[in-house]
Amino acid sequence: SNTLHIVGGGMAGSEAAWQAAQMGVPVVIHEMRPKVETFAHRTGDLAEMVCSNSFRSDDDEQNAVGLLHWEMRAANGLIMAMADRHRLPAGGALAVDRDPFARSVTRQLRDHPLITVEEGEITALPDDGHWIFATGPLTSQRLGQAIAQETGTDALAFFDAIAPIVYFDSIDMSQAWMQSRYDKGETEEERTAYLNCPMTRDQYEAFIDALLAADKTEFHEGETAGYFDGCLPIEVMAERGRETLRHGPMKPVGLTNPHQPDVKPWAVVQLRRDNALGTLYNIVGFQTKMKYGAQTSVFKMIPGLENASFARLGGIHRNTFLNSPTLLDDRMRLKSRPHIRFAGQITGVEGYVESAAMGLLAGRLAASEILGQPLPPPPQDSAMGALIHHITGGAEARTFQPMNVNFGLFRPVEGLKGGRRGRKDRYKAYTDRAKAAWRGWLEQAAPAPAQG
Ligand code: FAD
Repeated sequence: SNTLHIVGGGMAGSEAAWQAAQMGVPVVIHEMRPKVETFAHRTGDLAEMVCSNSFRSDDDEQNAVGLLHWEMRAANGLIMAMADRHRLPAGGALAVDRDPFARSVTRQLRDHPLITVEEGEITALPDDGHWIFATGPLTSQRLGQAIAQETGTDALAFFDAIAPIVYFDSIDMSQAWMQSRYDKGETEEERTAYLNCPMTRDQYEAFIDALLAADKTEFHEGETAGYFDGCLPIEVMAERGRETLRHGPMKPVGLTNPHQPDVKPWAVVQLRRDNALGTLYNIVGFQTKMKYGAQTSVFKMIPGLENASFARLGGIHRNTFLNSPTLLDDRMRLKSRPHIRFAGQITGVEGYVESAAMGLLAGRLAASEILGQPLPPPPQDSAMGALIHHITGGAEARTFQPMNVNFGLFRPVEGLKGGRRGRKDRYKAYTDRAKAAWRGWLEQAAPAPAQG
């Protein structure tokens, strides 16, 4: 049949359903709430915001998430339309009145002539039909097991352990240097996959003090089951003994500081290249439950990172997500079962906006296939395209962790100043280029007029 089945009516599933139905494809949304609950959702509404009520920056010229807002509005996205309808005053951010927002999304979808909502949990991957799985960070346990059976347990995570990610161009290379431990690696690229920041004994002691004193966030009730396997927060390692980090992720062995070849560092913080473009580096082993404000001040104590800007800060959460770089193709299909797509946070993006964006793409791509006019993958220079390119191809599969949209995912614009000074012009150039690319894709993809 030509029906599109969407599992999960959260941010991604709701947007996917809307897009597909607006293109004329009948949709069934399978949502387990309120029959089966999660520890974070409170209602049976579709598109419930489980925590903060913010869609973050609405600046579509200087901010990557604001650009994603723009692209979704340009594609007549339901989530953005309802967020705009229930907007609360919040300066440059888009804050949303969450209950009326979710009720409006629910009403729009339930009232759509081509959409049906079926309540109940889906517990298996179907053998045929057209499907989008958008079951989110709190995918039900039984479905999680079914997915792991298909993908292999290594390719589905139940927790994220996110180390902070730094923009390469904000790192002070007069203090840091590139070198893999013991110069390991076959190619020049591998031998320079790591960037090192040295610490003296005094700097190390002060850093440990700051880690121990920093404000931390707590786990939610019911969130920690099955947690402590191999992803200890850095501050928990420090609590186990002042030397633990120096013998763990910060060990100073196999590395020579070319800026001071005669001085042996007391400890070394390593950063690893996080994307093929080389614009992003993650601080190895620095997953953390420190609050965001504390993270920036503690991590800026690391020599070479005094002026670091962060593409994302660290965190550890209950989060079901796929190893998308190995499992999904560039149109979000499961390579082993292409009649199944994944969308939303389970694909390894993070946040309401990114999740809705991936739902928008999956809905259009699936509907276009059902209509017999398959769309090309979205252009890499759009925010949508940069994000999907990262999770399905650009990111390192081995160390893949969820990602927010940010300008580090964009291909550089040639001929512009680097560093802090050129930032404003650079971001404007990225957003101008992205809008043109996205408009172009939408024009090729002009949906058939909605029926009914
Ligand atoms: P969801 O919005 O979670 O939707 C998934 C839907 O699938 C749910 O409705 C669920 O009930 C349903 N479902 C699950 N399993 C099944 C099944 N087997 N059968 C049928 N239905 C099923 N993001 C932010 O931007 N800001 C925040 O402050 C924030 N805080 C968060 C706090 C917590 C505790 C958690 C868990 C997440 C938080 N997030 C936050 C992330 C945010 O929840 C997601 O980015 C966003 O909701 C993901 O959208 P989604 O559609 O992928 O998943």
